Amino acid sequence: MLRRGRRPKWMIDIAKERMNILFSLAEKEFTQYPHRSHRYVTLARKISKKYNTKIPLQWKHRFCKKCYKFLKPGKNSYVRLVNEEVHIKCKECDNIMRIPYRNEKKIRRRATIESHIVKKRADE
Ligand SMILES: [Zn+2]
Repeated sequence: MLRRGRRPKWMIDIAKERMNILFSLAEKEFTQYPHRSHRYVTLARKISKKYNTKIPLQWKHRFCKKCYKFLKPGKNSYVRLVNEEVHIKCKECDNIMRIPYRNEKKIRRRATIESHIVKKRADE
């Protein structure tokens, strides 16, 4: 029996696979058929909702959170690094998405701490 809101792993895998295919197609066809790419985003979002599965990480920021259009950096979107945030501007609706760089920072900090530990050990 299916628990509410949960799906078996194989179903989630299929959903992810489908979303990957849709976004890959969107990427491939954008230059020639941008309207198709936008349609693929809509389909991928439907799968995401239906299977209660997140959009794969590599595609998560490749569509606008406001107008849901496929975004291709340098074509219909700008990507800029502002302070410690990534700003993605959608040229379709002028919406700016701000993505904090926190994770990267945490990794860097950990690397610094580790290098200190290594140094300390070397001193002992
Ligand atoms: Zn937009």
